[in-house]
Order: sequence, then C-alpha cells, then structure tokens
Amino acid sequence: MNEKIWLSSPHMGDNEFNFVKEAFDTNWIAPLGPNVDGFERDLAVYLGEDVHVAALSSGTAALHLALIILGVQAGDEVICQTMTFSASANPIAYQGATPVFVDSEAQTWNMSPRYLEAAILDRIENGKKPKAIIVVHLYGMPAQMDRIMEIADKYGIPVVEDAAEALGSSYKGRKLGTFGAMSILSFNGNKIITTSGGGALVSKNEEWIKKSRFLATQARDAAPHYQHSEIGYNYRMSNICAGIGRGQMEVLEQRVAKRRSNYEFYQEKLADFAPITFCKEPNKDYYSNRWLSTILVDSENGVDREALRLHLEKVNIESRPLWKPMHLQPVFEGTPFYGDGTSERLFETGLCLPSGSNLSDEDLEKVVAQMEQLLQTV
Ligand SMILES: *Cc1c(COP(=O)(O)O)cnc(C)c1O
Repeated sequence: MNEKIWLSSPHMGDNEFNFVKEAFDTNWIAPLGPNVDGFERDLAVYLGEDVHVAALSSGTAALHLALIILGVQAGDEVICQTMTFSASANPIAYQGATPVFVDSEAQTWNMSPRYLEAAILDRIENGKKPKAIIVVHLYGMPAQMDRIMEIADKYGIPVVEDAAEALGSSYKGRKLGTFGAMSILSFNGNKIITTSGGGALVSKNEEWIKKSRFLATQARDAAPHYQHSEIGYNYRMSNICAGIGRGQMEVLEQRVAKRRSNYEFYQEKLADFAPITFCKEPNKDYYSNRWLSTILVDSENGVDREALRLHLEKVNIESRPLWKPMHLQPVFEGTPFYGDGTSERLFETGLCLPSGSNLSDEDLEKVVAQMEQLLQTV
C-alpha cells in the first residue's frame, strides 16, 4: 500500500528541537520557564495591536478561561457559531450555561450577522441577554468581522474570537485573534503550527491575561503557604511544549504560504469540474491561512461528497466532511438555534482535502488524479 496522505499532520522546522534541548539542559521541565515567556512574546509581536498572550494547555482551556473571566455562570446564555468543532461550544456547558447556536452565511461559512442579530433580539425578548458571542474563523477564513463587531457593540455583548484554525489569517490587514474582547488560538497537532498540544488566550486587556495565568495555575493567592480564594485550574502550557512553539513561530509565514499554495493548486486543477466549488475569499479584505482546503461537491450521477471521500480512502488518502453543526449534535439536542439551514447544507456537501504544509507536489498530484478519475465518470 502507498504511504498514507494525511489531512493535516505536524510539520517541524529546524529549530524546535534546539529550544526543547535547551529546556532539558537547563532543567526547565515545568509549566513555566523561558520558553513559555518567549512563546508568549513571539505571539504578541506577531499578532500586533498591543495584545497580551497567555500560553495554555489547549485552545479549549483558553476558551473556558475566557468565559470564566467574562463572568459566564450557570443559567447564562452564550451565543456560538453552530458550524464549528465541538471545542468551541463545550466550555459553555462546563460553566453550566446554555449555548444559543447561530447559523452560517454562504460566503465565508462563518457566523451569519443577520441571524446573530435575530438571536440577540429574540433572547432579549425572552428575558435573557446573552453574556458573550463566540465567533469562529473556520478553516482559516475570516468571518464578516465588521458587521459582527458592529452588532456586538450595538448590544454591548463581548465577542470571544475562536481563532484556533486561523493563526496567520487577517481581515482588512489586521491579524485574526486581535478583534475579540478575548481570542483563543490552538496548537493541537493538526493545526497550522503545533506544540504537540496547546493553546493561547489573547487580549488587549492585560488584567484579563494576568487573571488567566492566575486561574491556569490553580489560583494561588499571594502567601507563603498554599492559599486559595477562588477555584483554580491546571491549564498552563509546559516549557517543553512552548519550546516547540518558539521554533514553529520561526516558520509560521512559510506554513501559511504553503497552505495557500495547496489551495491554489486544487482550485486550478479542479476548475473544470462543475460539481466542485470552493470557498473563495470574498474580496481583498479577507486573507485566509487556508489551514484546510475545502470544497463543496454537488451530487451528480451518483457521485457526491461521500462517494468522493470513500474513493480517496480506498487509495489511502485522508479527507473529511466539514464540521457537523452543533445544533445537529445529539449532545446539544434541544438548544436554541437561529438560522435557515445554510450550515446543514454545507455539512452535507462539504469535504476537507489533504492540506498539510508537508505535502509534496507528488502527493497533491496524486490527490487530484484520484479525484479526476471519479469525477470524469460524472
Ligand atoms: C482545534 C479547535 C479548538 C480547540 O483547540 P484544542 O487546542 O484542540 O483544545 C477550538 N475551536 C476550533 C474551531 C478548533 O478547530
């Protein structure tokens, strides 16, 4: 069997191991140390906008702390994009709050500003103003941030930006992860850069970032003994993982360039196949890191998304349906939803193609050749 072509696998540069080795040599094998500080600095400089950054154990942990710091409590409601990975919504449940899911719009596949406002108005009429809005930049594509921020500001609701998939993307020249009152990043193994596992909380509000570091290290009060006035968490990033992150920051721009070129390759090669469409950048304001190259497959002559996925699987090529919307997940059954079914249609026809920055030209040619083979029968 040919070697497997993965959807998105880790891709180390030249320096990650040196940072990790330095941690070993100096015995900084702990959830603090020079690499943690250095990685936070690198991220803050890269993102710009005078943000502060806390390096954490995962993107999920970052979202959880963001909601805690915004005061989300049991019984509250939090608006969340329905089309996303479950980790965007789970922290709402950790707090005993209820998610209110909002549909996608067809241009960016992200939160529909129209249904966002409809949801806010209806929840207020129901007697509860949502405590926060979680907007996601799926597959690296920026959401319609001007309109979303405008609506959030109009009703005075803080935005938490889930930029887990969008490090390196920008909107109107400003990096994603700098728009929200708080934003989160992920460095899980499949993301555009990885620390093997990890995440970060980003905000212009330095007090909030300090608070997140405090909560992430078991909420220890200033005392010689262990004294606690608040419930804490063990959410800090280790100095080993942060060393990998420092090395990865050196190659981030290369990773973005390669992923964008993967996307352009697919778009060019598959342009003649009518059933296949791409999620294009709507205009120059939108710059996607193209974390994953995604397509929609119109069903024709028995060839649909699932037929294509299975065809690729048979020749050891990994592809994957788009995220299944949260309002359709059994675990969130019965939660409020505002929309017109756009995300459901995207889920039914959408496919993520192999998109790693370590794919060779040969790998990409092979994926396209296999797709052409099936599509030519249509
Ligand atoms: C990966 C991801 C997360 C969670 O990040 P982890 O570091 O895996 O906890 C959250 N939201 C989205 C959209 C993601 O893709």
